[in-house]
Amino acid sequence: MQENILIDAHIHLALDGIDFKQARLKHKDTPDLNILRAVLRKYKSLGIRFLRDGGDNLNVSLYARELAMEEGMILRTPVYALYKKGRYGSFLGRPIADMAEFKDEFARLLSFKPDHLKIPFTGIMDFSQFGKVDAINFTFDELYYMIQSAKDKNLNVMVHAYTAVAVRMAILAGADTIEHGYFLTDDELYLMLENDTVWVPTLAPLGNLVKQNDLRFKNEIQIIEQIYAAHTQKVAKAFELGVRVAAGSDAGSHAVCHGKGFFDELDHLASTGIKKETILSAARVNGMKALNLEQHDIAIVFNNTDEVGGAS
Ligand SMILES: [Zn+2]
Repeated sequence: MQENILIDAHIHLALDGIDFKQARLKHKDTPDLNILRAVLRKYKSLGIRFLRDGGDNLNVSLYARELAMEEGMILRTPVYALYKKGRYGSFLGRPIADMAEFKDEFARLLSFKPDHLKIPFTGIMDFSQFGKVDAINFTFDELYYMIQSAKDKNLNVMVHAYTAVAVRMAILAGADTIEHGYFLTDDELYLMLENDTVWVPTLAPLGNLVKQNDLRFKNEIQIIEQIYAAHTQKVAKAFELGVRVAAGSDAGSHAVCHGKGFFDELDHLASTGIKKETILSAARVNGMKALNLEQHDIAIVFNNTDEVGGAS
């Protein structure tokens, strides 16, 4: 049974991988439960019963968490992320201008019983230039304060971060998982090792663009290929060093479909030359850590069902 535990450690149920605007419009007034149930069943049909969402500002993942339970699955959600006002992250959550606002918003967030706290610590990549990323959104002290506040409530913290500098700060501030983490040096890999941090490198969003030769990005594809190549090299190094790497597809983001995205992620991880069994085992063990899954959670899910889903 253990071998068949498939965990996608980074998804966005409010998005569909095809049309950002249209996908969100469907949940505009209230989350569309039929759509969400269909997406969850898609995951289940592929043997993926454990999911971790990045949050949204439409209550989609909050509602989906209940549906997942009905489906005999586990969906972990931050409910919504807390992002720096005026910066990246508005579709993921609610804005905070400073730590006073964080305190208020965090107290409100706790009433929804989040499974973890999600913080967008940087913006996203700019494909016009290698290594170009939106600014860092919080000071180290702010990030540290938010992370410790979550830990006081026994919550894991999922930090979205690009660039070596941002990732180093996030690890030292106590992040449990680093999401994306593009443009790293070996130093951050060693830091993750020392701090037992889980890295969710989300290869699929870029890897799928490279594979599909997406016309939408025809002017940027060379940079994208360059970023992807550097990133896969770091992931290979991370496996070599024994860094905890989990498989998170970022499904919902452009060109990454729910369900299939997880297997895309595994393929991209395998393209680094790491053996498939090693990848599956890392995805399971480190996915469990990222989702804070205990053996009894696994048992509940598998006792709920007769068939045990497996990877092809
Ligand atoms: Zn994401």
